[in-house]
Amino acid sequence: MLNIADAAMSGAEIGVLALQGDYVEHQRMLERLGRTSRQIRKASELEGLRALILPGGESTTMVKFMEEEDLMQPLRDFYTSGGALYGTCAGTILMARAISAPSQASLGLMDIDVERNGYGRQIDSHESPGACRELGEEPLPMVFIRAPIISRTGPEVRVLVEHRDQPVLVRQGRLLASTFHPELSNDLRVHRYFLDQVA
Ligand code: GLN
Repeated sequence: MLNIADAAMSGAEIGVLALQGDYVEHQRMLERLGRTSRQIRKASELEGLRALILPGGESTTMVKFMEEEDLMQPLRDFYTSGGALYGTCAGTILMARAISAPSQASLGLMDIDVERNGYGRQIDSHESPGACRELGEEPLPMVFIRAPIISRTGPEVRVLVEHRDQPVLVRQGRLLASTFHPELSNDLRVHRYFLDQVA
């Protein structure tokens, strides 16, 4: 069982932003990879952290809490001082430069633009297999839930997986973002890739 208190005591170097959304599912994935993590709700908790996951959920609510907690600038500073970030779905929206449908504030860390709920209301959620050479032969199970579409990628952004001709897993140096939710599948490869290759 996940023991959050133990993780906090051990000074785990991996954090999961725990303001809203499916952060516990991410912690379970990390635990299955043998890594403890801690929940981050305040700027002071970023101390000593090397990697941070921004979970899926509702990005508007997350931004509201981040602004209330004065977390926006400390999260940007965490990145510029060497931290690695992985965002899933709403987490990707938080990292993007520009957001549409509708527009909202973001950390602006990654050189991508996103369109919220880009697949439309008719297909709120769907699951598809993805192909990714860097993650191995096995198809990647991809769970999309009111997912955004990455509508622009800058020159430094590498597309690792595409779906319907659109990028769905992208990397820019120490930043990784997926519009799908590996934490809601059984496949540990994206989390392992983040820990081993990005962080
Ligand atoms: N549609 C949500 C948003 O705009 C993201 C959904 C998700 O994280 N599954 O924040």
